[in-house]
Amino acid sequence: MTKILTIGEILVEIIATEKGDGFRAPVRLIGPFPSGAPAIFIDQVGKLGTPCAIISRVGDDDFGHVNLARLKADGVDVSGVEVDPQGTTGSAFVRYRNDGSRAFVFNIRHSACGTITLNDDNRRLIGECTHLHVMGTALYGETVIDSVMAAIENIKARGGTVSFDPNLRPETLKAPGMREALSRVLTQTDLFLPSGEELFLFAAATEEEAAVEELLATDIKAVVLKRGAKGASYFDATTRISHPGFVVEEHDPTGAGDSFGATFVSFWLEGAAPAVALAQAAASGALAVTKVGPMEGTSTRAELQALISAAGEPS
Ligand code: ATP
Ligand code: MG
Repeated sequence: MTKILTIGEILVEIIATEKGDGFRAPVRLIGPFPSGAPAIFIDQVGKLGTPCAIISRVGDDDFGHVNLARLKADGVDVSGVEVDPQGTTGSAFVRYRNDGSRAFVFNIRHSACGTITLNDDNRRLIGECTHLHVMGTALYGETVIDSVMAAIENIKARGGTVSFDPNLRPETLKAPGMREALSRVLTQTDLFLPSGEELFLFAAATEEEAAVEELLATDIKAVVLKRGAKGASYFDATTRISHPGFVVEEHDPTGAGDSFGATFVSFWLEGAAPAVALAQAAASGALAVTKVGPMEGTSTRAELQALISAAGEPS
């Protein structure tokens, strides 16, 4: 049976309630919201009822427990999340600028999840999983990179698959070893899920069509390109399809890509036709932006289907 695994940061997110440029003066804040790209991803997988687990670390503090409670409630196996009595749960402060871009202050590498390593229990957990989803943001330190690489090796050796969302943030790209780790993960990727310009990260080509061709000439079986409010496109050796964005009211775009990816991967692993997986994923990304808070907009299958039906699309 399919079981989806991810490895990486669990954080709380604290959001500035007023737009503006960063945090160099006092601003009003709201939070803590459960967060961390791998955590949002796996929460959305859990809500779909697909078996799933996360390997991570939190501190024995309220920020850690708010995340554990949410993930558990939404059906995620959290047996691979170590509660470190000496550690502090990671955090991200985010403020939207008027142009829609975001400024982040991250505390990841020096938080509890900065020291993710594989113990016997989470090695056993990896052995139960058939698919690994890698978030680029999770490649922030040597021990977490080693853990991701070991999981890739184990899962692929058993005939499993790997999906990869580069999910780049300028603030985290400075992490030592991250660029090299991103390239290493790509060589093991079956399903690649870049957003916008990330399509060109690993391609010499500067045009979309050519970059997709280049990626599909490697071992990558399919590329799914996320285009924000404009929707998304799917490419494999024989198929090219696009889905427009569903019309929704955007309150907070953070988490759209993670929810989209979780839903696409779940349907893809179930053997759904690409057009079906793309429509469900686009619905998931659209619903994600309607709620303030990165993990607040994850959806059940019934909620996805309600949006698809309301838009007049066949189910
Ligand atoms: P993230 O900020 O979570 O990393 P991302 O850049 O990886 O996001 P996006 O392209 O922003 O990913 O969003 C993923 C998908 O969600 C899009 O391809 C689209 O289908 C849907 N989506 C995102 N924003 C909107 C929106 N405003 N309206 C409708 N659909 C949206
Ligand atoms: Mg993203």
